[in-house]
Amino acid sequence: MSLKLCQGPDCHRYTTQDRLKGIKGSKTYQTRRRSRFYYGNRNFCDQRCLYDWVAKYIEQGLDHFGRTTEAKHLTEENAWSKRYDWRTSTGESHRHYFLNTITQEQRPLTEAQYNDTNYTINTGE
Ligand SMILES: [Zn+2]
Repeated sequence: MSLKLCQGPDCHRYTTQDRLKGIKGSKTYQTRRRSRFYYGNRNFCDQRCLYDWVAKYIEQGLDHFGRTTEAKHLTEENAWSKRYDWRTSTGESHRHYFLNTITQEQRPLTEAQYNDTNYTINTGE
C-alpha cells in the first residue's frame, strides 16, 4: 500500500510524537504519511494543515482560477431544492418534494428521485 504525504506546508513543524522519525542522534519531525487522509479532498492530515495550505495559497488560487467580480444570481427556475418531511399533518410519512426557495412552490418528488444526486429540475447555474 502506497502512502500519501500530507500537503500541509507546515505539517513537519507540528511537533507531535507520530511525526518524530529516525534513529537516535538524527531524528527529525516529518510530514505525515498515511494510506488515507480525510481532509481537503483527502490531501491533508487534519484541518490545521488544510487551513495552512489555504492561508498560503488562496490568493494565488483566486488569481489563477479567476475571482468572482460580480454577484451571481440564483433565479426562480434554478431555486428548486430537495426537501424531506419525516411526518406530515395528513399522516402521510416520508414526504419528498421539491421546494422553490423563491416562489415557495412545491412539487412532488419520488424517494428515488430524492436520492438520485444527479436528478434536478433546475436548468442551469
Ligand atoms: Zn499534515
